[in-house]
Amino acid sequence: MSTVQVETPGGSYPIHIAAGRLDALAESMPDDATAIALVSNPTVYAQYGQRASQALAKTGKRVVYIELPDGEAYKDWQTLNLIFDGMLQNRLDRKAVLVALGGGVIGDMGGFAAASYMRGIRFIQAPTTLLAQVDSSVGGKTGINHPLGKNMIGAFYQPVAVEIDTDVLATLPAREIAAGLAEVIKYGLIIDAGFFAWCEEHVDALRALDPQAITYAIQRSCELKAYVVSQDERESGLRAILNFGHTFGHAIESGLGYGEWLHGEAVGCGMVQAAELSALTSGLSAESVERVRALAAAIGCPVRPPDLGTDRWIELMQVDKKTEGGRLRFVLIPEIGRATFESVPPEALRRVLDKAALA
Ligand code: NAD
Ligand code: MG
Repeated sequence: MSTVQVETPGGSYPIHIAAGRLDALAESMPDDATAIALVSNPTVYAQYGQRASQALAKTGKRVVYIELPDGEAYKDWQTLNLIFDGMLQNRLDRKAVLVALGGGVIGDMGGFAAASYMRGIRFIQAPTTLLAQVDSSVGGKTGINHPLGKNMIGAFYQPVAVEIDTDVLATLPAREIAAGLAEVIKYGLIIDAGFFAWCEEHVDALRALDPQAITYAIQRSCELKAYVVSQDERESGLRAILNFGHTFGHAIESGLGYGEWLHGEAVGCGMVQAAELSALTSGLSAESVERVRALAAAIGCPVRPPDLGTDRWIELMQVDKKTEGGRLRFVLIPEIGRATFESVPPEALRRVLDKAALA
């Protein structure tokens, strides 16, 4: 088993990574837990619910299952309330522990419910998508969407443990694997050139979910995200570099309509565009841009940006939170493994976007 320790002002906790880890869920349950709320959705529960429940039952504590409908469309206030309904109806008290078993949607909602139920109860993340294992379950951002914006309501709230079972990835659709791998290579690009090169060498093993390769990729991703978050839990500075490729990616997601491309797919393509922008403004070599493009394609992400029209691209990117005095700011990589965050000359951005129109 691999363990990554996360240290933040808001809490310190271990991330355990291993094949079959779901069966050991009881190990991280606090002894004084009075009951357990297991939050999941029908898709995940059908595959892994019984194993998780059986593992939790080993604690001898009462396990209450709370089922939420599956999908980003349900990451909302009404669905969040189902968690509170379930916990109150079952009279769970402040010493109950919530376990979020699922992808990023379940993790974000379960975490936010834990942050606010009786002003805060402990919770455990059991992420079941690759994206959730390498990204959303680490760092303490929790929340729900509002009709006027994604992730607009939420809290920073750290779990007591993250339990990652690499076996569960076997049932994920290939597109979800590609989307998760996009966030994996992102860590290499912004902070660890050696890890990026390792991903290039092991891309076939990663796509095939080779146990050793995928375990290492998850472990390294968690270490790198944990490092960034430990420096800047509440995103006042360094944490922004985690958004590499995301300003372009968000424009793709909203420009095409949410759900058309998966978030990670849009980020994969967005990282190629951000690399092109970095070449124009920050000295990234042409050879490095091609390495980014080749690896994004090799993990299975689309690398040809959709033709939204340059003006529409810019309009969509301005909605993103990263503007300063009206000028768009971008995470750029002067070289692979190092990131900066700055505003760019509008002409350079237009050159990158005009290329999208020609693609
Ligand atoms: P998701 O939770 O919607 O899961 C994708 C699909 O896979 C769902 O249908 C889910 O039921 C299914 N699924 C989950 N595990 C499975 C398994 N093992 N086998 C088969 N199917 C499985 O999507 P996601 O990509 O995991 O997460 C996206 C969400 O995460 C977004 O809401 C996003 O805002 C959030 N997010 C949060 C953070 C953060 O820091 N908190 C970071 C990134 C993303
Ligand atoms: Mg992301």
